[in-house]
Amino acid sequence: MELIYEGKAKRVYKLNNEWLVMEFKDEVTAFDGLRKEVAIGKGRLAAAQTAFFMSYLEGNGVRTHFIDWDGDRRITVRALRIVPIEVIVRNYAYGSFLKRMPMVKPLTRFSKPLVEFHLKSDELHDPLLTMDDITEAGLLTREELQEIINTSLRVNDLLTNLLSTRGLILVDFKLEFGFDGSGRLLLADELSGDTMRILRNGKHLDKELFRMGASAMDLVKAYAELNALLGIKS
Ligand code: 5GP
Repeated sequence: MELIYEGKAKRVYKLNNEWLVMEFKDEVTAFDGLRKEVAIGKGRLAAAQTAFFMSYLEGNGVRTHFIDWDGDRRITVRALRIVPIEVIVRNYAYGSFLKRMPMVKPLTRFSKPLVEFHLKSDELHDPLLTMDDITEAGLLTREELQEIINTSLRVNDLLTNLLSTRGLILVDFKLEFGFDGSGRLLLADELSGDTMRILRNGKHLDKELFRMGASAMDLVKAYAELNALLGIKS
């Protein structure tokens, strides 16, 4: 298979004109790649999480790019034209929200889920975008943006409810979207501890642990704990 992209956490291969293979690395990075460690087992756990959450969403009427998981570090997905925007949904104040709004107490619950947009650009450190920025730059129409907001809020409802049945709190998460050949918007990329903040009794079962200074091995253990709680076979 032809390697077409390599990022910090994943490699993407072209399987054919319609399908790609995403391979999750046994590595963890933080602070724009400044901290990087080998994390044996993380790739399979994160691939399993993505397969689990994407299948759950599909089963509840959310169109996603997910096709299949190989039981290890790879998933097969539909090739899409990716929208270069990160969509973040927040239920509680944390992370970059607190940086720009330091007057808010950490983990304050918002009166409603917040949806925000960032440009996907490591160079520019993913700057926050307004809806006008996005439409004026021609990245999306108003209607497409509204569809993305509606889908993101639906994903939030579904995941929040699913996680709460296991005593888990969904603090925030990041989504990406892309267009298929017929111009339909699909949920893309991954849904794992790398892209979500999930708390259990105040403890992070997500990449925040590593950002806070935990070892790569402790992070792998936390991902395994999350998978066990959710009944994800990995
Ligand atoms: P924050 O903007 O507070 O740093 O992140 C909000 C949520 O989106 C967190 O769950 C975080 O893991 C996720 N997120 C934000 N930016 C990125 C990114 O560039 N890559 C990944 N993997 N996740 C991100």
